[in-house]
Amino acid sequence: MKNLKDKVAVITGGNSGIGYATAKVLSENNARVIITGRRKEAVEKAASELNVSSLLADQSQLSDIERLVLEVKNQYGKVDILLINAGVTKFALIALTTESVFDEIMNVNFRGAYFTLSKFIPILNENASVVFLSSTSATISPQGASVYAASKAAINAVVKIAALELAPRSIRVNAVSPGPIATEIMNKIGLDNTLEKQLMDGIPLSRLGKPDEVADLITYLSSDSASFITGSNFLIDGGQSV
Ligand code: NAP
Repeated sequence: MKNLKDKVAVITGGNSGIGYATAKVLSENNARVIITGRRKEAVEKAASELNVSSLLADQSQLSDIERLVLEVKNQYGKVDILLINAGVTKFALIALTTESVFDEIMNVNFRGAYFTLSKFIPILNENASVVFLSSTSATISPQGASVYAASKAAINAVVKIAALELAPRSIRVNAVSPGPIATEIMNKIGLDNTLEKQLMDGIPLSRLGKPDEVADLITYLSSDSASFITGSNFLIDGGQSV
């Protein structure tokens, strides 16, 4: 894989899971990494463990996104790698989904992700890479995941249009769609042995994925080795969606 030396990489929601693992790999490949998050202590702790920079921003708040873009612009100038990763998951049957759960998921996963791209566009370098964290939920339709799946399906639609709109500046835009990966998000939805077994039964490779495995794919897509790849959605799910 081509070296990422001196490339400026912004990762939203980098204090745990896939964002954290990707920050580690990008930094090991000599990128200048900035992670963001909404909890000061957690973001600063992660940044210090990873030896990368951090900025505080709640990606569901447009004013925070605008401030983040300004801070990155003032401190780093341009951005070469943008990983739009911050996301939340909650499950409920459609009949039981409340307005507040609907708004929370959509505000982070879709509205927040959308405006993160929108507001960063002016400071993306020529040849920059944008990767959105989508999910296999958008294609395999798990029961109880209607809002989450819809938020990620909306991302998949935007990725293709963004790839077209940004191609004249040689900016590539792709989505990575993981299946079940062992991260904090699993604890947040209350993963226990029964749910874990249920998930694994649906995965031909019979295990959950690791954040490092997703980080390696994102790092490849973010590098110049992937210079002809744009508008694509990469499943990384141990065969779950086959
Ligand atoms: P995670 O460990 O919970 O990471 C999510 C990160 O996003 C956390 O750092 C979280 O911060 C942050 N975040 C959430 N809301 C935010 C907000 N409003 N502003 C800023 N940061 C916010 O889970 P993960 O598995 O790595 O998830 C990363 C992405 O992958 C998500 O978009 C998720 O939907 C997607 N994904 C995950 C899986 C999976 O199985 N793990 C599968 C498919 C897709 P806090 O610590 O403050 O919550």
